[in-house]
Amino acid sequence: MENVKVRMIKMEPIRVRCRSCGKEVKACAGKSVCCGCSNITTIKGNVISAVDMGKVIMLNTYNPIDVERSLTPSELEWQEDRRKRKVRKLDFEDRSFK
Ligand SMILES: [Zn+2]
Repeated sequence: MENVKVRMIKMEPIRVRCRSCGKEVKACAGKSVCCGCSNITTIKGNVISAVDMGKVIMLNTYNPIDVERSLTPSELEWQEDRRKRKVRKLDFEDRSFK
């Protein structure tokens, strides 16, 4: 697990800004981070969610297609699979950052 932490630190964390409240939300490994307003802009792991995604601005390089894909059954299956294997670093990087 220590190896995972190292990889997470080296990678640029996902950052988004909520246009509803103007707050910047930065991904934090191992927990979900929420902007706190009614739009509920949330980053959990590599998944970005919000009541209105149109009010969410990506602040760093991130493929929006992956955001949508993160909600598909195959993605959930992948997350479940990842949890079982307890291998996070490679899948995270390959799937989320291009
Ligand atoms: Zn907000």
